[in-house]
Amino acid sequence: MTAPAATRTNLLGLERRALEAYVVSLGSKAFRARQLMGWIYRRGVGEFAAMTDLAKELRARLGAQAEVRAPEVISVQHAADGVRKWLLRADARQAFEMVFIPEPDRGTLCISSQVGCALDCSFCATGQEGFNRNLSTAEIVGQVWLAEPELEQAERRRAAGYAGPTPGTPREERHVTNVVLMGMGEPLANFRNVVPALRVLLDDCGFDLSRRRVTLSTSGLVPQIYKLARESNVALAVSLHAADDALRDQLVPINRRHPIAELLTACWHYLDSRCGRSVTFEYVMLDGVNDSPAQARALARLLKGHPAKVNLIPFNAFPGTRYRRSPAPVIERFRDALLQRGVLATIRRTRGEDIDAACGQLAGRVIDRTTVRLGSKVIGLAVHP
Ligand code: SAH
Ligand code: SF4
Repeated sequence: MTAPAATRTNLLGLERRALEAYVVSLGSKAFRARQLMGWIYRRGVGEFAAMTDLAKELRARLGAQAEVRAPEVISVQHAADGVRKWLLRADARQAFEMVFIPEPDRGTLCISSQVGCALDCSFCATGQEGFNRNLSTAEIVGQVWLAEPELEQAERRRAAGYAGPTPGTPREERHVTNVVLMGMGEPLANFRNVVPALRVLLDDCGFDLSRRRVTLSTSGLVPQIYKLARESNVALAVSLHAADDALRDQLVPINRRHPIAELLTACWHYLDSRCGRSVTFEYVMLDGVNDSPAQARALARLLKGHPAKVNLIPFNAFPGTRYRRSPAPVIERFRDALLQRGVLATIRRTRGEDIDAACGQLAGRVIDRTTVRLGSKVIGLAVHP
């Protein structure tokens, strides 16, 4: 019997073990899951009828009960520097965003984990919008699944005569070489759906990305960092933004619950248990707020001698913000002060600004805010996975 659309199992939401259990439940052998993943992730095929080496019966069962469904694209915007931003449908009223950043040696896809965010960082457009809901595993995986054919198509349109790879052939060269969970939302506040998505990204039958090419960025949900250390080994980025608790309490309210010392201990634990190389600390440069030479020295004292890299992010403005970006020479001096003290530091190049696709500018469409913002209510609010 054919299942109605709403009750179909979306295979993009199943990591390998779950997919194996699912194909067994359909009367097939577990190893069929690998074949299925090969079609879905290596060849980008979502039509079961086209999966010619699967038994006919299995194809028919899948056709009746399952689907491979990525989020629907509402619109695509192109920035002058090649950055591309997609608005993706979460439901009739809500939407979230995904950004592709091409560079000469790589292509980075910045994906979302939630519609909005409850953590209420004062300098972040997503935080200022409030929170609607967690994205499902299928919606998280679906962003990456969707990006590749979209980018191929765009290339085909651009380069006259370029036919692009034949649909359904395994991809040798990928546009998306790196994935960062730095779009809308706090990934560790959606632990339950994010971790299986990470597994699909790393699985050699899935997107087969190396652990160093997948980065999860968190504002510092300490218990979930320990939990992540048990479940995954992707690269970790932490949004630090201040070297003292008084200022970080203001900028990143979750700090009132998990202050800097606790957060750093969790970071070093993550590296030790996952044999990671280093943690990247993101530090947004806010004019006159966190960009003084004394603050650079304090940051160096915190991180010196630890496996840490600092990524300075020039603040990206959005409507209604009270912050301004630090001037370029101030950012450079801040970086140099860190380097002089033996702390690795780089300045993130701002990309996609003309289409509001830069860090912290993603606003999507968050209309029904189901949860109070974290803000001053941070103490006592449970951020369950
Ligand atoms: N919630 C996660 C990941 C999404 S935000 C986190 O906070 O880490 C991705 C990065 O963009 C974070 O480092 C965040 O602090 C930074 N960011 C947020 N708003 C910004 C803005 N307006 N300008 C520059 N960076 C910003
Ligand atoms: Fe949420 Fe990250 Fe924005 Fe803070 S910076 S509000 S945690 S998305």
